[in-house]
Amino acid sequence: MSTAHAPAETFPVEVPPVGDMSEAQQCGRSCAWCDRVLLGRPAVDLGERDDAESGRRLFPRACPDCTRDRVYVQLVTHTARCGQCTDAGTYCPDSAELRRALREGRRL
Ligand SMILES: [Zn+2]
Ligand SMILES: [Zn+2]
Repeated sequence: MSTAHAPAETFPVEVPPVGDMSEAQQCGRSCAWCDRVLLGRPAVDLGERDDAESGRRLFPRACPDCTRDRVYVQLVTHTARCGQCTDAGTYCPDSAELRRALREGRRL
């Protein structure tokens, strides 16, 4: 949707490499991590993105369980490394997106 990201930039929520994801996982029909079918079930949008290597457009989504586990770990890791987030009180956009996904996973 947005082309504001530089090609090398990673997206806030990290998902498995394209080669490790099934077609269903790449289009968000099943969880990007556990491959549980998401159709008709609550799911968290992990943010669509282009995969530079394969040239594919990915629409990864995840089940609430995986989101709570995986995104939580990513958020903790990010916060420990990010200069902006370790400054008291301010969060960078990546962190905001991780928090959004995590909040959604906890709500579902
Ligand atoms: Zn899952
Ligand atoms: Zn940050």
